[in-house]
Amino acid sequence: MAAEPKESLVAHTVALRRAIHRRPELGFEEHETAALIESELDSLGIERRRVAQTGVVGIVHGSKPGRVAALRADMDALPVTERTGLPFASAIEGRMHACGHDAHVAMLLGAARVLSERRTTLAGAVVLVFQPAEEGPGGALPMIEAGVLDNPRVDAIGMLHVDVRLETGTIGVTPGPINASTDELYLTVRGRGGHGAYPHTAVDAIPAAAATILALQNVAARETDPLESVVVTIGTLAGGYRNNVIADVVEMSGTLRAFDPAIRSDAQHRIERIVKGVARAYGVKSSVRIVPGYPPVTNDPGLAESATAYLHAHTDIHIVRARPTMGGEDFAYYAQRVAGLQIRLGVRNEAAGAIHPGHSPEFRIDEDALAVGVETLVTFATGVTSGGIRA
Ligand code: MN
Repeated sequence: MAAEPKESLVAHTVALRRAIHRRPELGFEEHETAALIESELDSLGIERRRVAQTGVVGIVHGSKPGRVAALRADMDALPVTERTGLPFASAIEGRMHACGHDAHVAMLLGAARVLSERRTTLAGAVVLVFQPAEEGPGGALPMIEAGVLDNPRVDAIGMLHVDVRLETGTIGVTPGPINASTDELYLTVRGRGGHGAYPHTAVDAIPAAAATILALQNVAARETDPLESVVVTIGTLAGGYRNNVIADVVEMSGTLRAFDPAIRSDAQHRIERIVKGVARAYGVKSSVRIVPGYPPVTNDPGLAESATAYLHAHTDIHIVRARPTMGGEDFAYYAQRVAGLQIRLGVRNEAAGAIHPGHSPEFRIDEDALAVGVETLVTFATGVTSGGIRA
C-alpha cells in the first residue's frame, strides 16, 4: 500500500477520536456520536440503520461468498470530570471518555473505511456494531434484540478494549474468561435509634454494618477456592445523624465479581447467609438485594487460538496472553450467543502519560495505538469472513 492513503487513514482516525473525545455522551444519550458515525458511514457508502435508540449498525458486503464477522465498538462516556489538560479534552463538565470508548468508535470507523475500500476482494460480510450504554444500563441486549447478530447471521464477533497495562504495539488475546460478572449489592441494616450516651436502650446499626462488611470479606478470603476468582467490594456506606445519636439505619452498596457462573451463584448465597447471620448476632434486621449485572465475558477458546495464529501470520503486531480483569463488559451477551473475542489493545506509553487506569480523570491513551487497533480489527474481520479464523 502507498504511504499516503495509509497516513491519511491514521490522521483521520485520530481526528475522529479527538472529535468524539471532546463531546462525551452518557448511555443512550449518544446523539452526536451516533450522528457522526452515520455521516461517516454515509460518506463511505456503507448501508446502515439506527437501532436501540442511539445504536448504529452498518454492513459491509463483500463481493465473494464467505462467512459473516461482526465488530463491536461501545460509544458511551462516564460521569467523570476530565483532568488531563489535553488540548482536545472534554468540553462538557462532568462527562469524560475515561474508558477509551471514543477510541473504540474511531478505530471501528477506520476499519469500516479499510473494509469498504476492499469490497471487491472481501468475502462474506462484516457487520459494524456501534453500541450505546456499555457503562450502564447496558446497550448490548437491546442491540441483540434488534437483530444485529441475525440477518446476516453472524459467525463470530470481535471487539477491542484499550488497556494501559500493555505497551502500544501489543495486543492481548486470551482464551476463556477475560472479564467478570458484575452483580450489584444493596444492603440495609436496620436497628433502633437512641441517645449516644445510652446504647443499652437502642439497637445500634453502625457496629452491625461494620461487622457485616468485615464478615463479607470471608466470601473471598475463606469460603471460595483460592484458585478461583471472586471479589466482594462494599463501595458506599451511609447512616446516622450526628455524633451523639445512635443510628437506626445504615445503607450500603457494593459489587460482586466472578468469572465462573457456579462461583458467582455460590457467592450470592454466601453473601445472603452472612448478612442474615450477622444481623441475628447483632439483633438488627438486615436485608440484601442482589441485582444481576452483566455475565462474565468468556472468549471462545477456539476463536482465540485461531485469531492469534492468523494475526501472527498476517501482521507484525506483538501478541500476548493478557491477564483477565475483574472488570465487566456487556460484550458478554454477544459472546453468549455467537463465538466472541475481546482483544485487549495496548495503549500504554509512559512518555505520553498514558499510564492511568480506565475511569480515572487522568486517563489517556497513546494515539499511536489507534493504527494498531484498526489493523487488528480489519485482520480479524477478514480472517473470519475468509474462513482463516474459525471458532
Ligand atoms: Mn470500557
